Amino acid sequence: MKPVIALVGRPNVGKSTLFNCLTRSRDALVADFPGLTRDRKYGTGQLGERPYLVVDTGGLSGEKEGIDSIMARQARLAIDESDAVVFLVDGRAGLNAADQVIADFLRQCGKPVYLAVNKVDGIDPDVAASDFHALGIGEPYQIAAAHGRGVRSMMNRVLETFPTPEEGEADAEEGIRVAIIGRPNVGKSTLVNRIMGEERVIVFDMPGTTRDSIRVPFARDGQPYLLIDTAGVRRRGRVREAIEKFSIIKTLQAISDAHVVIMVLDARDGITEQDAHLLGFALDSGRALVVAVNKWDGLDQYQKEKVRRDIDRKLPFLDFAPLHYISALHGTGVGNLFGSVNRAYRAANSDIPTPKLTKLLETAVANHQPPLVQGSRIKLRYAHQGGRNPPTIIIHGSRTDSVPGSYSRYLEKFFREQLKLHGTPVRIEYRSGD
Ligand code: GDP
Ligand code: GDP
Repeated sequence: MKPVIALVGRPNVGKSTLFNCLTRSRDALVADFPGLTRDRKYGTGQLGERPYLVVDTGGLSGEKEGIDSIMARQARLAIDESDAVVFLVDGRAGLNAADQVIADFLRQCGKPVYLAVNKVDGIDPDVAASDFHALGIGEPYQIAAAHGRGVRSMMNRVLETFPTPEEGEADAEEGIRVAIIGRPNVGKSTLVNRIMGEERVIVFDMPGTTRDSIRVPFARDGQPYLLIDTAGVRRRGRVREAIEKFSIIKTLQAISDAHVVIMVLDARDGITEQDAHLLGFALDSGRALVVAVNKWDGLDQYQKEKVRRDIDRKLPFLDFAPLHYISALHGTGVGNLFGSVNRAYRAANSDIPTPKLTKLLETAVANHQPPLVQGSRIKLRYAHQGGRNPPTIIIHGSRTDSVPGSYSRYLEKFFREQLKLHGTPVRIEYRSGD
């Protein structure tokens, strides 16, 4: 599991600047779930071999009466779900009473806290940092988030206590890791219970849990799976509102931990912005994906047509993911999901021989030439596989920097169709010889 790092501090100290520095910003997921987190940002990043999730907790004003405000409660929830906290202060503004209030709070939060004195560019870092020893959080890290200065060495320390993800884990043994994700109330718990209750499923006992995210090992038709439960349904003795048990952090961790993601949509709500956000994150992560359009029971022809159109219109980028129309409540279509999960897993992990890829590349180029760039043609010469899950195809040629996005999408689709890679995205990367 990727460690979760929460960025905390009062407004204007540089949290979003640091967030952007720590993430590829196209990954940023701005959460706007009614009644839940507002304007919190989530992203992923990587330092060397170590991947992480980062949350910009938004505001902690640090004002005494404000510490129990809704915003502070939101920040507290994020801190609860995190593995470490980076506490930002402003090295130019100097020590502030609000910083002290936040520090008092963080000292009791039970998580490792790292103090970062930001904006030390152009001033004496030691002088700027000296004030902040008084916070009692330990030795401050001196950083300038706007320039990336000091960020690497601080993050090295923050991350060093967490285990590195082992290369090539014992995948076959523990089975296909499946995450069931979706916004609150779409029917995730109902689906999990339905799957677990099926005759063909053998559920193994495993008490192990990581934080609140529960992994349920089971087998179906001889194939082992590990279900990563984001809905918290397997937790006994606790009945919680869907909105409460829904956690974006848990969802993001489940996505990055899974081989295959089952994204659940609610046919009765159509496609909402939150659905699109979560899907975007799943896509960015490169995971194999199966979409389950739930609550298909009791819809009339007109309503069904409307949902299909809505999906086509709002999720055109989903062309690779198999769609299933299901009723978790009645069990209709649930069994078929596994066929798609297995196929997507195999596709995502397939090995493709170099000669085959090069041959396909030649056909793709013959069918549809890359465009001219300033009068001369982009040359794509040969291809080989650069990785799995998702399958990554590396294409060698010249002037590849100028390949337009539309042409890459054409190639991606061509390779996917020709190689029958159902259910997984395919990444195209270029290497230029000039
Ligand atoms: P947030 O409210 O904590 O998210 O703070 P922002 O990231 O929005 O930053 C607040 C202001 O501080 C912006 O004007 C940033 O450009 C500025 N800022 C952030 N980091 C640095 C830094 O390292 N050096 C300097 N000089 N300014 C910074
Ligand atoms: P979660 O928050 O995503 O885990 O959603 P739940 O599984 O708790 O389901 C939310 C509500 O939708 C509950 O009232 C379920 O009974 C209902 N529900 C779930 N699946 C279906 C379905 O296939 N059809 C219908 N009609 N209702 C469903």
